[in-house]
Amino acid sequence: MTEALLALGGNVGNSRAILDRAVTLLLERGDIVLKARSADYLTPPWGFKYQAPFINLALVVETALSPRDLLTRCQAVELQLGRDRAHEKRWGPRTADVDIIAFGDLKIDELGLTLPHPRLFERAFVLRPLAEIAPDRLIDGKKVRDALAEVDTAGIKRLPPQP
Ligand code: ATP
Ligand code: CA
Ligand code: CA
Repeated sequence: MTEALLALGGNVGNSRAILDRAVTLLLERGDIVLKARSADYLTPPWGFKYQAPFINLALVVETALSPRDLLTRCQAVELQLGRDRAHEKRWGPRTADVDIIAFGDLKIDELGLTLPHPRLFERAFVLRPLAEIAPDRLIDGKKVRDALAEVDTAGIKRLPPQP
């Protein structure tokens, strides 16, 4: 079993409900086991700024799947939740995005899969939820909490649990 970090986000539709469903779908076969789940966070859009704020959350999971199979499962969940990659803008609105942030300490840079995620250290919307559940996790030799201290968290709000 390998521990992996996942980052989920979305800003189209009822994002909290959609991402909650994404977590359920990821876990439903039993081959991805949840170890920790952050709160939901409301975060300002990144990249393409003129769009609705996002909901983001992070997961720590364990899995015996290969990194490729885990990515395939993440993408299958995105599709099940109505993501339409063909018609979306890069870093634009989407119902559900599920990224692998790290897979154990694996480092790979292949077509279609880079680990750790290449933009993670620029992204408060990834690091803030992750720091809640894995502050001492090292990624590329850096603690998540230290990486978080280096980014701008302005506008990010931790949301209370839903009733
Ligand atoms: P970003 O990668 O900057 O977060 P994005 O999530 O909007 O952007 P997508 O359109 O969801 O980008 O994915 C583009 C491609 O990124 C996918 O087809 C996938 O193969 C590839 N990819 C590479 N590394 C990863 C990773 N660690 N996690 C998820 N997808 C990855
Ligand atoms: Ca992403
Ligand atoms: Ca993605």
